[in-house]
Amino acid sequence: MESNPNQRLTKSTISVVLTAFFAAALGVGSSLALADSTVETGVAELSSKDANSDGVKGIAPSKAVTLGMKTSGIDASEIATYSRFAESLLSDATARVTAYGDGNVPAYAEYLKGVFIEGGFDPKDIHTLPLDETVSLIVRYRGDGTSNRKPVVFSSHMDVVPAEAGEWVRNPFELQQDETFYYGRGVLDNKFDVSMLTTMFVWLKAQGFVPNRDLIIAFTGDEESLQNTVQDLTNNHRNLIDAEYAIVVDGGGGALNNSDEAIQYMVGFAEKTYATYTMTARNIGGHSSMPRADNAIFDLAAAIQRIENHRFAIETNEITRTYFERSAPFLDNEVGEAMRRFAANPKDEEAIEVLRAQPEYIGTLGTTCIPTMLSGGHAENALPRTATATINCRIFPGNSVADIMGELSLVAGNPELEWAVYGKPVSSDTSPFNDEVMNAVEASLAQLYPGTPVIPRMISGTTDGAYFRAAGIPSYSLTGIFLNPKDSFAHGLNERVRRASIPESLIFWQSMIRSIASDAN
Ligand SMILES: [Zn+2]
Repeated sequence: MESNPNQRLTKSTISVVLTAFFAAALGVGSSLALADSTVETGVAELSSKDANSDGVKGIAPSKAVTLGMKTSGIDASEIATYSRFAESLLSDATARVTAYGDGNVPAYAEYLKGVFIEGGFDPKDIHTLPLDETVSLIVRYRGDGTSNRKPVVFSSHMDVVPAEAGEWVRNPFELQQDETFYYGRGVLDNKFDVSMLTTMFVWLKAQGFVPNRDLIIAFTGDEESLQNTVQDLTNNHRNLIDAEYAIVVDGGGGALNNSDEAIQYMVGFAEKTYATYTMTARNIGGHSSMPRADNAIFDLAAAIQRIENHRFAIETNEITRTYFERSAPFLDNEVGEAMRRFAANPKDEEAIEVLRAQPEYIGTLGTTCIPTMLSGGHAENALPRTATATINCRIFPGNSVADIMGELSLVAGNPELEWAVYGKPVSSDTSPFNDEVMNAVEASLAQLYPGTPVIPRMISGTTDGAYFRAAGIPSYSLTGIFLNPKDSFAHGLNERVRRASIPESLIFWQSMIRSIASDAN
């Protein structure tokens, strides 16, 4: 991969942005001074066209930004200043190829560490924790302790999934933009929120904000691959990240319709356990001209058929019932009606049948298991000595990996089959409802997208949040990003995020953080 010219600019960009801000704070300059200085660094190229309906230079336009500037009472030039700051961080981040195997996360973490130090954080409160080729970065924002409450962790990840540059319309490792979007690997998942959280810490510090409890940033380094860094944090550095709860700023957030109106806002409360099993049939084998009555492929096929006919129990919890109840009004059809009925009565068989038939919703009804790979035999004219099916399950919270393997093995109906678990799945409980977080979310939404319904979700994959939950730290996935689901290209080609997401997130997080860490709210 080509090295990135922006990396040479990064140091000067930080100083320029901070120096400009402090000049502005002293009344010497304004956001204009910043705009001028950034020309020299090349960052201004990215934002020179910016002007919203209010004519505030440097702020990507959206109805929510206009409203948010009014309702939050934050000075528009301050939002412009920190929008540019966040954009310069995102630009630097995008240029770093931080996929698994590239070994570039440590340099990214060092760069961010420099930003925090420039922003006034004590180097003693910043920890880079190397693990194999990657690293996590912990930054503690010291509070005055007046609330007597444990800290809150804010977590995002610095790594990305790989991108095949040749298949993208634009270079994935260079922040690019048009009228509406930024493009690049990680601009949505998850370098956007790494940049936003970093900006928020620096901005709040510059405002002189002292939280009533410690706030901790925990940036992990391999969420998209091994998820070892988060486990290293919970297992070996608990003192650095111990918290009342974690806000995992990765996923969740607002959904927009085609008129850019917010239709719902998702908060992740739980994750299904991702577990993969292998089921193997063995046989003595022999020559195919002399078939035996028993056969590894027949045995395996029969077991697969029994599993196909099996139905896991319907399960619900507070999160999934609320999810169905609040999602129902958005679907003006029989699926919406089934959601409403199921939320009211989880034993409603007709409603269950309708929801089961929807691949999008079946996973919210209970555990699902499905064969995904097959292998077997070793020659076209030999009786197979082994045949293996790979079965991938998404396990409903409350069931163990062993429970589900036991159930599958019973269903398969053949004690001769060999079962194994692939890798080390992590199980986590559902995080309890948290009024403080939900009230803070609602207050923040009221500034930007008033009246947006908040919908709790159970996620089907495994993110860092599962490990915080497994370690006894309740965790909530949410973000200040609002996007139309049709524009979500996370992990895919041409990943993008709305440019207006930067000022919207700034307003969102000012409200969120002040709400959960100051007495005024
Ligand atoms: Zn992510």
